[in-house]
Amino acid sequence: MVYNPRGETETAAAMTTTTNRETDEFAVLWLQAGSCGGCTMSVLERGGAGWLEELRRFGIRLLWHPSLSEETGAEARAILARIESGEDRLDALVIEGSILRGPEGTGRYDMLAGTGRSKLDWVRALAPLAGHCVAIGSCAAFGGVPAGAPDPTDACGLQYTASEAGGALGADYRSRAGLPVVNVAGCAPHPGWIMETLAALSLRRLTAADVDGFGRPRLFADHLAHHGCSRNEFYEFKASAEDFAERGCLMEHLGCKATQAVGDCNQRAWNGGGSCTQAGSTCIACTSPGFEATRGFHHTPKIGGIPVGLPLDMPKAWFVALAALSKSATPARVRENARSDRVARGPAPSSDKRSGSEKRTGAEKAK
Ligand code: SF4
Ligand code: SF4
Repeated sequence: MVYNPRGETETAAAMTTTTNRETDEFAVLWLQAGSCGGCTMSVLERGGAGWLEELRRFGIRLLWHPSLSEETGAEARAILARIESGEDRLDALVIEGSILRGPEGTGRYDMLAGTGRSKLDWVRALAPLAGHCVAIGSCAAFGGVPAGAPDPTDACGLQYTASEAGGALGADYRSRAGLPVVNVAGCAPHPGWIMETLAALSLRRLTAADVDGFGRPRLFADHLAHHGCSRNEFYEFKASAEDFAERGCLMEHLGCKATQAVGDCNQRAWNGGGSCTQAGSTCIACTSPGFEATRGFHHTPKIGGIPVGLPLDMPKAWFVALAALSKSATPARVRENARSDRVARGPAPSSDKRSGSEKRTGAEKAK
């Protein structure tokens, strides 16, 4: 039983004595492996009515979630047993957190309490039974933070270790629906990415064509985190901040990777109104495989004064030429504001105080 904002009761007994094979609900099992729990924290922000109510409206049933469900250990084990035996249908196996393969491939650094089995073992047992397998967060997708060097637990993602295909399930894994693992990358992923992916799967609207080369749903992976940043004007003129409190673009000196990272996080608000760059921090490319290997997230590595990591799709020579041109044309207002912690200089008022639409054309004046 999970928290239900409408107050309706939904007992564990009901779930464990009646098979779900006759229902058309989309049955989701959520497991946490090597996880900080931040992905769940993120999705709980979803929706005005709350995430659980939104799941309900899409006909998605959360069979069990380790942080949100109220089942006892025995009841939770019964749910797992019914899925594993085939008694209950599993439409989506959702994994949050990286899979810890150590020590020596046994997975026993991360056991599912009370079952005597590792999460690695459970994931390998349940994934072939699932209609879809969904990795929530960059840990589950690519290994993420737990896989950072020296990686004593031998952490990996479900189907990748950083950008190398394989992971816990192997590069050839396909779900019952024929898809590889769907990677809702991000640390944490935006709540909308999680919910919309589950909704699209439940509506059978997510196909192989709807994910990118790393299995990330294109609903967010077709965008760059740079798109929509409130600092875009500073980026255009390469007017850069040198301290975090300043308003300028964070790419040149402070390590912002949003021009190299997929995500629409600057186009839709987090927690009602923010993003990393909006909050004054840089984009650390958390949707990218291997992002955790970056040395010094808040510093831009350069060679000969040119940032090593350039925007995706942009040849280096173009970037250098455009940057030089932009810097030579930077308006004083933009240059000044870039190094200020508040708007130091507003836009110069037009000499004609009427707005453009109020101005009369020469032909109108002649009438
Ligand atoms: S992806 Fe980030 S937020 Fe999610 S479990 Fe891993 S470390 Fe935590
Ligand atoms: S701070 Fe980052 S996201 Fe914002 S404009 Fe600069 S490069 Fe783009």
